[in-house]
Amino acid sequence: MEYTDFDDSKEKRREYLKLLLPKEYASSIFTINIDRLFKNGIRGIIIDLDDTLLPRGVYKIPFAVYSWIEKVKEYGIKICLVSNGSSSKRIEYVSNSLGIKGFAFSLKPLPFALKKAMAYLKTSPEQTAIIGDQILTDILGGNLVKAHTILVKPVAEEVSLVRMPMRFVENFLINFLKLEIDS
Ligand SMILES: [Mg+2]
Repeated sequence: MEYTDFDDSKEKRREYLKLLLPKEYASSIFTINIDRLFKNGIRGIIIDLDDTLLPRGVYKIPFAVYSWIEKVKEYGIKICLVSNGSSSKRIEYVSNSLGIKGFAFSLKPLPFALKKAMAYLKTSPEQTAIIGDQILTDILGGNLVKAHTILVKPVAEEVSLVRMPMRFVENFLINFLKLEIDS
């Protein structure tokens, strides 16, 4: 009987681990196959800002990011920005420039902001892709709300000593979970 209990907890642990697994892993937003997402029923995208769209603290938006957002919109896929960042001024600037809605102070992986964003997009979790560069915030949060999660490589090298341990843990997880890029 005790063995059964042991198996149960092993199964549980596997379930928890699955919450960290992105459904896709891409080298950047630009290599994500939007056509395939649309064909698979995705109608809304929730995208992270820092190190997913732009390096941290950066205001200047590359032309490629503008055209990527346009391409998403042309598919009829709605998109909004959900950031854990606290600079509402910058988040507002970026989202206004891109012509999309932005949510700041999101506290990912907590589900509140992601649910609010889905309500804004009017999409169900199955119709929603959540894109970000961090497993412990974007992917975990996205999996908790049962959306289609896509991990991307951070756009910039980490320079902040405060965040380096975080990047270390993320890289450890990427190896541990045996994630294959652009799979
Ligand atoms: Mg990020």
